[in-house]
Amino acid sequence: MKTSALRRIALATGCAALTAGVLPATAHADGTTVERKLLPVLVEFTDSSFQSPEDVKAGTPDSYFGSGKDSLASFFSEVSRGRYALVPAVDEQYVGPVELPMTAAGCDHNKINNLTQEALADQGLVRGEDYESLSITFPAQKTGCDWAGLGKVPGPYTWINLYGTGSGLGVLAHEFGHNLGLGHQERSMCADGDLVDCEANGTSAKSVMGGGGTAAGFSAPEMIRAGWLSGSEAVEVTASGTYTLRSLHGTGDGTRALDIPMGDDRLVVEYRHAAGSFDEKIEGVHAYRVPGGNYGSSSLIDLTEANRTAGNDAPADADAVVSLTDKANEVSVAVVSSGDGQARINVNLDGEDLSAAEETAGETAGETAGETDEETAAAPAPEHTGTDTDAGDGLGAGTQAQSGDKKPVTAAEADEDLAATGGDSSTLPLAAGGAALVVAGAAGMVVLRRRKRA
Ligand SMILES: [Zn+2]
Repeated sequence: MKTSALRRIALATGCAALTAGVLPATAHADGTTVERKLLPVLVEFTDSSFQSPEDVKAGTPDSYFGSGKDSLASFFSEVSRGRYALVPAVDEQYVGPVELPMTAAGCDHNKINNLTQEALADQGLVRGEDYESLSITFPAQKTGCDWAGLGKVPGPYTWINLYGTGSGLGVLAHEFGHNLGLGHQERSMCADGDLVDCEANGTSAKSVMGGGGTAAGFSAPEMIRAGWLSGSEAVEVTASGTYTLRSLHGTGDGTRALDIPMGDDRLVVEYRHAAGSFDEKIEGVHAYRVPGGNYGSSSLIDLTEANRTAGNDAPADADAVVSLTDKANEVSVAVVSSGDGQARINVNLDGEDLSAAEETAGETAGETAGETDEETAAAPAPEHTGTDTDAGDGLGAGTQAQSGDKKPVTAAEADEDLAATGGDSSTLPLAAGGAALVVAGAAGMVVLRRRKRA
């Protein structure tokens, strides 16, 4: 089934997601590098141009491909540990500015995309041959777009509604996360440590897709979805036992995630610890529900009252898991030890409640996971189906931040953004692979995020 819908979704990064098509199933990577030829294009309208075009042009190569840590390519190279490479499609590293034969008003992202591709074709640049990913930046002043960035989920297109001279990494990384098939990552607060009683509440703060900024990178289920964890790194748990995890974003070999069956869903457990550019402020074992095996639509399971966000000063491990139980599916997890870059975790699949974190007998070796699905990182381009119903939400001119990571948006600010969305979520796009969860997530954020705020 092909359905696409543009949704009103606000996050700290202030972006919108455009969902479309069928998401492929997850993949466990085989360690090879997926290379994508990325073409940033600067476009202008007949009635609106960049205010500082020379600055925009000068900054674009660095924003996308610069050798510094704050470029998009550097971010993805580090977070994927070399498995995802965004490379310039042209020697100049960008094209433009190109004036499109249209006025700015109306925020018609489809028309902008179509006319941009026509203009590129006139220059001999064809999508699928000369470039695989298209990132269109245009001056925001007259568009009326109420988002700073927009990304196809999954897909090859991102749109940047630019007010200043360059988009921050927070926006770019988030939109390209959408392109990889990732939705927004919610937080699910579960009372009493049992997963039968949970409520959507805010965002995970463990991912650039969940209000965590680029310093969070991506979470384990998202890394699985992107194909960046091999079978030995994301172990599919089929037997009770004690497992050792190394930090998700750390270097070296070892298991980085446990992928546990939980009824129709999966339970993914990770250990986070400062490593490289990531997780300076994230520590401890965290768990995610993966609905129906859709790894791009995971939500953080939070059993605490800490209400930890990327913007508050709760301790780095305030929302870390100690133990959790899903009685309905007879799954129980307990942390034996956690710290200094390693965690030991008991998993029981037989209905035994592991509320006490005692080591079980024996060490269980991980099994090799399934097939690599190269579609994951190189998802085919879903076409717009004409059913987009609304503009995205996220940022007006006043709150257009360079990124969510440099200036963490406080809960209050995020609520202001979300309040403007009006909770539009009555119609879910029924993508088979879980794009609907993007929208479900938005409803949860709008309706429930004020709960339990300290
Ligand atoms: Zn988004």
